[in-house]
Amino acid sequence: MKLYDTMTREMRKLTAEDGMNFRFYCCGPTVYGPAHIGNFRTFVLQDVFRRVLELSGQRTRHVRNITDVDDKTIRDSQAAGKGLQNFTEAWTTKFQQDCFALNLLPPHEEPSAVAHIPQQIALIEELMGKGHAYQSEDGSVYFKVASFDHYGCLSHLDQRELRAGASGAAVADDEYEKDAVADFALWKARKAEDGDNFWLSPWGEGRPGWHLECSAMCREYLGNTFDLHSGGVDLIFPHHDNEIAQSEAATGETFARHWFHITHLMVDGGKMSKSLGNMYTLADLEERGFTANELRYVLISGHYRHPLNFTLQSMADAKKALERIGKSAEHLRDRAGELADEGGNEGMDFSAHDFVYFKKAFDSLLNDLNTPEALGRVFSELRDLKADEMSEEEASTAVKDLDFILQALGLFLSRPAEQAEIDLPAEIQALAEKRWQAKQAKEWAQSDALRDELLEKGWEVKDDKEGYELCPKS
Ligand code: AMP
Ligand code: ZN
Repeated sequence: MKLYDTMTREMRKLTAEDGMNFRFYCCGPTVYGPAHIGNFRTFVLQDVFRRVLELSGQRTRHVRNITDVDDKTIRDSQAAGKGLQNFTEAWTTKFQQDCFALNLLPPHEEPSAVAHIPQQIALIEELMGKGHAYQSEDGSVYFKVASFDHYGCLSHLDQRELRAGASGAAVADDEYEKDAVADFALWKARKAEDGDNFWLSPWGEGRPGWHLECSAMCREYLGNTFDLHSGGVDLIFPHHDNEIAQSEAATGETFARHWFHITHLMVDGGKMSKSLGNMYTLADLEERGFTANELRYVLISGHYRHPLNFTLQSMADAKKALERIGKSAEHLRDRAGELADEGGNEGMDFSAHDFVYFKKAFDSLLNDLNTPEALGRVFSELRDLKADEMSEEEASTAVKDLDFILQALGLFLSRPAEQAEIDLPAEIQALAEKRWQAKQAKEWAQSDALRDELLEKGWEVKDDKEGYELCPKS
């Protein structure tokens, strides 16, 4: 697979450094409200990326964090009158339910920032020891930008116009202006407005800076160097440049070998924002009668390196497009008769897949994740296929090849809940399995307690004689 690399500004072939797993990190959601469809453009494209790698035979290790402590989570938990943990856990659950509905493969690890404070403190200590960080008078610790030669290498800071006078200033906010060169906070000294949200550190009470959280979690789960790092384009500067500075200054090694950034989703030709009332969530679209699958279709209908304009009309068009694919697939299935795989692409073994049909569509995905071209090629091939003239074997092969492409795009034609069942978060799957075992052993109290725990995490269990089913709590 070839993919554009933000760092080198070139198309590069992807390889797994360890020869086994392609290890990659995606900056996850800040859990202070429901994720919007722009966030999901990024997460869906990262999911297609992973699917294409896996379907081309590459094993992956996918880490996506949960940002559960930063300026925004603290501010909004207080406004809601809730403890930070209660507040962020509820939004994490909502996020995971939306991911499930959108058929996103759960990451192999989904670490939360709050659960990794010691690792963050250790990283700051290393940076202090190497002279890359200093403590200011108020007790906060800052990264010394001037101590890191390559600062800004990802966003090509040296080629941009910098804000006069900004250099050398220290900035405490997690997010700051895109043209400001500033020493940024690694550790923020406790302030009255932080309330109970502080931790002990060698520099006194406080909390970590947002950029640091990702550096520490990348290291914990992927090591000093890993294969690819990803996020929306807004994260290139300062967030990702700051991550590079912190990590490489501490380890002396290359941080990420490849950088994958997804361009923003626009709505009705403009920026999405709460004040304009055009910041859609999945729930907003479901209220209007659309499905997560249709949203997924819209989000992959543009190339990730170009802005994509979302309109409600594009959702209606997606509905029609999916129906057209569905009809053609049904036609092929009819033609294949008993040879058609009734179960759709569930449980199919895709390893070493040999295409007869739809190869060009998969090639589009291998070439810089060109999802709109892949969709276009699916349609043109469906149009050109003469299903009525095919033998049962040919039709059955076409069904399998189409299933393969749909699997890569993460789209389903029917039975979405059943199909997505295999993609539950590992933690939820483990809890459900534990509850089932307890129930089999007639340990009713434990089984009930586990059922409640699942409910709290947003999942309802339904039992029948042979087993159980999990569905998102409505
Ligand atoms: P956040 O929850 O704000 O930390 O963002 C989660 C992810 O969504 C990050 O990778 C962002 O870069 C990305 N993102 C935010 N807004 C948009 C947008 N309008 N289009 C695409 N991606 C976005
Ligand atoms: Zn990050």
